[in-house]
Amino acid sequence: MNKIEKLEKVRVIGFDADDTLWVNETYFREAEEKFASLLSDYEVHERVGRELFRVEIDNLGRYGYGVKGFVLSMIECALDLSNHQVPQKVISEIMDMGKEMLEHPIELLPHVEEVMAKLQQRYRLIVVTKGDLLDQERKLQRSGIAHYFHHVEILHDKQEENYRKLLHQQDIAPQEFLMVGNSLKSDVLPVVGIGAQAVHIPYHTTWAHEEPDPHAHDSTSYLSLASIAELPGHVLRPN
Ligand SMILES: [Mg+2]
Repeated sequence: MNKIEKLEKVRVIGFDADDTLWVNETYFREAEEKFASLLSDYEVHERVGRELFRVEIDNLGRYGYGVKGFVLSMIECALDLSNHQVPQKVISEIMDMGKEMLEHPIELLPHVEEVMAKLQQRYRLIVVTKGDLLDQERKLQRSGIAHYFHHVEILHDKQEENYRKLLHQQDIAPQEFLMVGNSLKSDVLPVVGIGAQAVHIPYHTTWAHEEPDPHAHDSTSYLSLASIAELPGHVLRPN
C-alpha cells in the first residue's frame, strides 16, 4: 500500500503544537546561548551547553517538559558549574529569562492558519502536545487558532502507551488517526508503532533529546513533508 492510499482513511488529525503549529525551540536555543554567556566566568560556552543538557535529561522524570523545568535545571547547572559561587544576580537573570519565555507572544509557523481552516471542514482536528499544562493551555489561548480544534490533549510524554490511551478515550480507531509533528521520536515513531499514520514536518532546530537514532527506524513507514502547506494535498481528495 502506498502512503497516499493510507492517508485516505483519515478521520481525525492530531497536531503537535511546539515547532509544528508555532515557534518554540528557537526560544530555548536563544536562552541556552544567553545562559552560557552568563556563566562565561566559570566554564567555556560549549561545556555549559553540554552540562545543561545533562542536567535537563536527569531532571525530566522529576519536572517533565517545559519552561519551568528548564529554569530549575539552569539554576542547578549554574550552581554546579560555579561551585556555588554564582552571584544571586545571575540566578535572578535566569528566572527572568524563564518568565520572558512564558510570556513570549505566539508566533505561528507559515501557512498554519490557512491549513487548519481548510482541514477542519472535513476532519476532526485535535492538538496533542506535551509539556506544562498551564503553559500549553495559555499558548493555545493566545495562538488565535484554538477554535479549529475539537479537543486538546496535553500529555506528560508521547510514547506508544500515551497515544493508545488517547485514541481509546477519544474513541478513535488507529487506522483513522493521522498525527502531524516535527519530532520523529515523539510525533511519528510511536504513532506508527500503534498502527496509526504519521506525517513528519521537520523544524530547522530540534532539541537533541528529540532526535532518534537515524538507523533505528523505517523511514518508509511515514510521510515527510517540507511544509504544513503540503498537507491538504495529501489528505484531501479532489471533489
Ligand atoms: Mg514539537
